[in-house]
Amino acid sequence: MSAKIRPSGTAAILATTAVAVVAGAAVPSAALAGPPRNLDFAKADIVAYQNSGEWLSDRWAVATRAQRRIARRADAVENPALVLDIDDTSLSSYRIQRRSGFRPSEADVVRSVLRGTLPAIGPTLDTYRMALREGVAVFFVSGRGNTRSVRAGTVRNLRRHGYTRWERLDLRPVSDTRSSAVPYKVARRKAIERDGYTIIANMGDQWSDLRGGFSEARFKLPNPMYYLP
Ligand SMILES: [Mg+2]
Repeated sequence: MSAKIRPSGTAAILATTAVAVVAGAAVPSAALAGPPRNLDFAKADIVAYQNSGEWLSDRWAVATRAQRRIARRADAVENPALVLDIDDTSLSSYRIQRRSGFRPSEADVVRSVLRGTLPAIGPTLDTYRMALREGVAVFFVSGRGNTRSVRAGTVRNLRRHGYTRWERLDLRPVSDTRSSAVPYKVARRKAIERDGYTIIANMGDQWSDLRGGFSEARFKLPNPMYYLP
């Protein structure tokens, strides 16, 4: 399966993001009743989902549930924490995805990360701000590869678009070549809880952001553009 493919050179800095975006991820296949949907129509559906505002309203529905949860739990535990994924959870890659027909090149992905110009996803930014007001510590746990330049671009991008404070920003070690992001993400959440926090909410756009425990509640944002194992 393509999950075995690891990026090299510049793409390595993006770790799993680049694998999925560039090479295509190991997607679990569904039982099909007929021929698969035409790829161009599927892409047109994504554009319509964005342009109609439906994607945004689906994101708001998830964020609203997360905020209700945060409001209920923030005062109920000692050191409440919110865990946020970055790509297509906190910041949107839709523009570069769409421009490239939903298959951006390595160069596209690297450039966007280093420039740090991805826009914020409003419902997540709102949830982030609400959590801070409630005294909840925010931790970013991202699959982006942990290099100096990626970290600098990521910090710049987060700050530029309203994410100005956090407890910790975890990026995935580039030496971590496992095909799934789950073990890395679980280990980071475990470390947060070991530091004395209770993760009252964990938000991500991939199930691999959310699987494996170490959070009281999981909030899955819709992302029809790609799949990360
Ligand atoms: Mg993501």
